[in-house]
Amino acid sequence: MLNIIICGAPGCGKGTQSDLIVKKYDLKHLSTGDLLRNEIAEKSELGIIAESFISKGNLVPDEMIISILAKNIKAFGSDINGVILDGFPRTVAQAEALETLMSSNGTEITVLLDLNVEKDELINRLLKRGETSGRSDDNLETITKRLEVYETKTAPVSNFYKNMNKYAAINGMGSVDDIFGRIEKVLDSKLVETVSVSNL
Ligand code: ADP
Repeated sequence: MLNIIICGAPGCGKGTQSDLIVKKYDLKHLSTGDLLRNEIAEKSELGIIAESFISKGNLVPDEMIISILAKNIKAFGSDINGVILDGFPRTVAQAEALETLMSSNGTEITVLLDLNVEKDELINRLLKRGETSGRSDDNLETITKRLEVYETKTAPVSNFYKNMNKYAAINGMGSVDDIFGRIEKVLDSKLVETVSVSNL
């Protein structure tokens, strides 16, 4: 199985690259941001609570997101090539919960792809997206807060995977195709490793 985490600051292009990865490697895609926005659109109880955190640029509580994720991963069943997690884990506590969840499903994370994009570029992309996205969090004040939350809460998740030798930094500047090319190199080498290990 190829189980990928794609992470990086808000606006780094996780969603765009995830779509390309899903197509090429035939994976299941889970975006916690999309799951939460669906709940908000349905005005569910969970959505109403989530919106109060999201619109201020804060993360929703760990317990809430971990239970949503566990439920959605379970629904995929075991007959899949793997998953790509987009927007999760965003805290070290979430990374720890994910480890437990994966091992209880008899699988593990293959690699974390960390998309690196300069801060000015992130802000420009998010402000541009805000012109059409209708997202309550794509405005300058909330973007600034999200970038700050990213630095304090999410950047440490990288160390968690570096310590396990499962970390790959990807230069996220340039065209969508160039960035995807860099990702393919990493994933193709991981696939070779996976196949050679299973043939031992
Ligand atoms: P972006 O990475 O562009 O900020 P996302 O769509 O991934 O956008 O997430 C939007 C918002 O949803 C986040 O700012 C956060 O409030 C909430 N969110 C998404 N994933 C998580 C998570 N794993 N833990 C806590 N909050 C989350």
